[in-house]
Amino acid sequence: MNLFNDFFAALYTMPLEQAVFWSLLGNVVMFAAALVVGEALVRRYHDKPNSPPPEPISRQEIMFALLCVILNALVAAVGIILWRADIIHLRPNGDILATVIDVIVLIVLMDFGMYVFHRVAHHPLLYPIIHLTHHLYENPRPLTLFVLNPFEVLGFGALLIVVILLSQASQVAIVIYLAFNLIFGLVGHLGVEPAPDAWLKLPLIRTISTSTFHAEHHHDKAHNFGFYTVIWDRLFGTLSPEYAQDFGRANGS
Ligand SMILES: [Zn+2]
Ligand SMILES: [Zn+2]
Repeated sequence: MNLFNDFFAALYTMPLEQAVFWSLLGNVVMFAAALVVGEALVRRYHDKPNSPPPEPISRQEIMFALLCVILNALVAAVGIILWRADIIHLRPNGDILATVIDVIVLIVLMDFGMYVFHRVAHHPLLYPIIHLTHHLYENPRPLTLFVLNPFEVLGFGALLIVVILLSQASQVAIVIYLAFNLIFGLVGHLGVEPAPDAWLKLPLIRTISTSTFHAEHHHDKAHNFGFYTVIWDRLFGTLSPEYAQDFGRANGS
């Protein structure tokens, strides 16, 4: 924890170009980790597909993904600049309970914000400008998580900055949230279902989204706009009526 606190103390005072370097490095590490872990999960659960195999990787897909990593680093740098300018206030790293509450607040606010953002992105006027790029890839692979239109990357980034500004979550809570966000984004683009068959039968657990939940969105753009939970889709009537059936099929039942 000391190393963590020391790093953030240094990030607050180091020359800006060094802070930008750390933003870029952090995003490159997250990207590489997602691809390595994602490939391992695809192999581990290859017998539980929820999508047909993806097309061979194209140069365009790789270019969009690399641009996404660079823009995510830019968003992180903007967040750091706002924090160093005391526009973003973060609570000091507290005890475990305070951290858990901060993480839950971040997850709930982002889950709702991204649901709204995602539905707006599917409006016919906006769809070709900000979201079509992601849907060029119907059968996802781990890399697809990063294949986004630059406007979409900046939109999500702006949303996260606003949510951090409002929640004033601690540094440790933000880092935990970013890891959580990466894991959920990755799971949604595996093309295979790691969750066990019992998932949709367990109270509370079944409100947590699965790989099949987002895979369905890639095949049926009128449903499943949520990210971490199925709560907002249930509430607003956009949950795929085939969710349980498709999830069961991926699990071989
Ligand atoms: Zn997707
Ligand atoms: Zn979409």
